[in-house]
Parts: sequence; C-alpha cells; structure tokens
Amino acid sequence: MHSSHSWNTALTVEDFQRNLAAVRQRIANACARVGRDPAEVRLLPVSKTVSQERLRVAYAAGCRELGEIKVQEAQLKAEGMSDLTDLRWSIIGHLQTNKAKHVARFAHEFQALDRLRLAEALDRRLQQEGRSLDVLVQVNTSGEESKFGLAPQDVLSFVRKLPSFSALRVRGLMTLAVFSPHESQVRPCFSLLRELRERLREDAPAGVAMEELSMGMSGDFELAIEEGATTVRVGQAIFGPRDTPDSAYWPQAGQ
Ligand SMILES: *Cc1c(COP(=O)(O)O)cnc(C)c1O
Repeated sequence: MHSSHSWNTALTVEDFQRNLAAVRQRIANACARVGRDPAEVRLLPVSKTVSQERLRVAYAAGCRELGEIKVQEAQLKAEGMSDLTDLRWSIIGHLQTNKAKHVARFAHEFQALDRLRLAEALDRRLQQEGRSLDVLVQVNTSGEESKFGLAPQDVLSFVRKLPSFSALRVRGLMTLAVFSPHESQVRPCFSLLRELRERLREDAPAGVAMEELSMGMSGDFELAIEEGATTVRVGQAIFGPRDTPDSAYWPQAGQ
C-alpha cells in the first residue's frame, strides 16, 4: 500500500490544514464504508525528522499530540517546545531498556511495549517521577524478523503480567503491517490484531484495558480503519515526504 501516493510538504498553517483535512476525509470515507463513526478514530500525527519550527506550525494548525520513534529526538523537541503546555508526546518506536528513564520523564504514551524488562524499567522510573504512562503492547503481525513486537501467541501471557506495573496504564495493541503494495498481504495483519484483541478482552486481567488498536500509516490507514483501528499513525500525508527513506527505519521497506 506504500508509494502509491504523492505527499505534499506542509510549511504553512494553511498547508497543514489542507493536509489534515484530506486525511480526515480519507478517515471519514473509510469509516463510512464499514459503518463506523469517524469520532472513534484518533489521528496521531507522526513527526519524526520534522523540525521544531515546522512542528510549531502544525501546532498552530491544531495538532496537539505528536508521535516520534526516537527518544532522543522526541526529548529534544519536547524540551524545545515545552512552552506549548498542552502538547502531548507519544513514543511509537522500539525502545532500549536503558532509555526508559527518558521516556518516563516526558512522554504521555508509549506504543511499543514488547518485553517485561522494559515494562519493569519504565514502571520503576515512572514511580520515581510520580508519573504514569499509557502503553500499548506491540505485536508482530507480519511475522517478519525485521519487525519488533511480540509474536501473537505470546501476547496473552505477557499481558497477564502487566498489572503488577502500576504506573503503566495498558490500553491495547499496536502493530505495523507488512510493507507491500498488495492489500491481500496488508489487510490480514490488521485483522489479526483485531482478532487478538477480541480474544484478550475475554482473558485480560483486571486493570488491563484492551480497547485501543493502533494500526495504519499514511499508505494503508484506510484498510486499518476498515479492520477496526482506533488510532492511525500518520506522518507523510500530514507533513510531506521524508528525506530519510523508510529503509532507514525498517530494513524491509526496501526503498
Ligand atoms: C513513521 C511511522 C509511522 C508513520 O508513517 P508514514 O508513512 O509517515 O505515515 C507510523 N508508525 C510508525 C511506527 C512509524 O515509525
């Protein structure tokens, strides 16, 4: 589903408003196809590689939360823009355990929880900071070795251990679909995440909410919405094309 679009770089408030409106229209169209209410779908703008200067313009256009994959980049931006007190930061990329302390300090959400050691480190640091954090468990639905996340069959036992980390508010699941132009390969990743959530809803321990499904990006979020996404993570369709090729983040993106 990738590379079939051309994205427009947003520099002005008007540019951002136009791109955001186009994304919201695509969200509304996808919802209409499956009888969903667009208000159920949260749009998380993904701002990796975008300068603080342009992020301030995005803020002026109404963006109040931003997703980043690298902690250091996110933290620099959060510090540089700390005057925007209602701006929330979501870390959506793989996190090394030794960087948990940084996330605990400033992030509002972490979408890539995939191992107990990391849950422990985050919880301990959050307790020290007197903060809590919304978390999603990342699942590898494509089976690709290059993708992070738990194997689907390991998610239930993992989730059962999470209530002991009281600073983590478990909200649901996150995934990245396979990078493929073929809907027939992408869609099953999304439906697998939804089916997994349905099973977990029955078996999840008290205190663990399984409502959120974070799935879908600029090139494939309509499919994700059709399969039940409650959060879509959209970068290029809002900010414009990135100079950094996707292969720098995900080896299998292959471009
Ligand atoms: C970059 C990124 C996105 C957004 O991708 P776009 O193609 O820019 O929409 C979504 N999720 C994750 C984990 C990402 O790293």
